[in-house]
Amino acid sequence: MTLMIPFDNSYARLPDTFYARQAPVPVRAPRLIAFNADLARLLQISPGDAEEMALAFAGNTVPEGAQPLAQLYSGHQFGNYNPQLGDGRAVLLGETVGTDGVRRDIQLKGSGPTPFSRQGDGRAWLGPVLREYVVSEAMHALGIPTTRALAAAETGEIVLREGPMPGAVLTRVAQSHLRVGTFQVFAARGKLDNLRQLTEYAIQRHYPQAEGPMGLLRAVRDAQARLIAGWMGVGFIHGVMNTDNSSIAGETIDYGPCAFMDSYHPNTVFSSIDRMGRYAYANQPDIAVWNLAQLATALIQQFEDKEAAVEEATEIVHAMPDLMQAQWLQRFRAKIGLTRAEDGDLEMISDLLTRMAQNQADFTNTFRALGDASARDQFTDPAAYDEWSKGWQARLDGEEAPAKVMAAANPAFIPRNHRIEQMIEAAVQGDYTPFHRLNDVLARPYEDQPDASDLMRPPAEQEVVQATFCGT
Ligand code: AMP
Ligand code: MG
Repeated sequence: MTLMIPFDNSYARLPDTFYARQAPVPVRAPRLIAFNADLARLLQISPGDAEEMALAFAGNTVPEGAQPLAQLYSGHQFGNYNPQLGDGRAVLLGETVGTDGVRRDIQLKGSGPTPFSRQGDGRAWLGPVLREYVVSEAMHALGIPTTRALAAAETGEIVLREGPMPGAVLTRVAQSHLRVGTFQVFAARGKLDNLRQLTEYAIQRHYPQAEGPMGLLRAVRDAQARLIAGWMGVGFIHGVMNTDNSSIAGETIDYGPCAFMDSYHPNTVFSSIDRMGRYAYANQPDIAVWNLAQLATALIQQFEDKEAAVEEATEIVHAMPDLMQAQWLQRFRAKIGLTRAEDGDLEMISDLLTRMAQNQADFTNTFRALGDASARDQFTDPAAYDEWSKGWQARLDGEEAPAKVMAAANPAFIPRNHRIEQMIEAAVQGDYTPFHRLNDVLARPYEDQPDASDLMRPPAEQEVVQATFCGT
């Protein structure tokens, strides 16, 4: 069997101001850790044997038809503009059009230095590669838009982080790697032709029905609003919502120090570099609006009549909080078994969340248990749940099949942070059993899986992950 990827590379046909041609840098001892056969089928890839795929997905060979390149972008990091970022340790191999007609990027991450590496080594270590593999595939199974993982490979090389770590490469698949920062870099440099070309490209690729830059802005707003509501509904905290990590296609991208909450608290932060809590759980909707405003600012540069453009863009951005709120309400209604909208729903959901925060209730397990007798056990003071439950039970009258609605909206399984850490520790010792088990279980997050009940448990005190470093 020979690995065959039917590449059709639209980004490589854009002007060379958009990227630097860059081949992946070969590594010492490639070894395939995982290959996602389901995703490969969607991408119309014919798999090769393990050795051939190890070479390709570690970057030692460039598959036929690939045109490897590192993309240019910039972005606001923690609110400060960085005029040049770009793929510092990734190369886009090219794109395929899937069996579903959707065009997707295939990118190697951790594939060696590029002209955008700055001080970095261009590499990734095994931990973040496996974290992104598991969490992105789990996110997909949860039904939330995300980049995906096609393969992971060991490099047989050491990467220096907090200490010497085993190196690895992730093969990432995305509807595109266009970011808010991709627009910002051309706007900031006054490269208006490139900005127009990029706008046209993004519309063609993602939102063909959108009209002009303002149509694009509206479409990105709607996609991002859906995305953030999706995150909120499963207790996900991205951790680094910089504009360079904000996808134009509306997918979750760049899994760094991300995590799912165990016990619910709106101020939860995971990234140890996010000292101000800028990207805390409950701030994510506000940050999404801020990021959209940066996209608007970039897009506006291409208009002759700036005043009119500013006015229209402002209106588009200002509508985002309400749109997000509507998406949020729809998701949380389902989470408590409601299909009909009624006045007071928002208050009922907020009341539950407040009680959960006051009682260290586990976010995932509380919602999953709603309606059965064990829900109250999630609360340090079970009476706090009982009180809420009375009003809720009354509200459920007239709902058709709340248990069914809730089972489809409340996952039993999320990639819990302590399980991810334990999985990484095992992998560093050469044991990939926990990695494969997590992937198997998390592929069916809404199904009861009695054999995997250990993966539903929140961390015991000594299992709590103390710091999630950006250490990528
Ligand atoms: P991230 O926080 O992973 O989204 O990365 C922010 C920027 O730093 C991007 O431009 C990355 O390509 C770059 N970067 C991150 N890690 C490395 C590394 N090890 N070597 C080179 N560039 C890196
Ligand atoms: Mg990034």
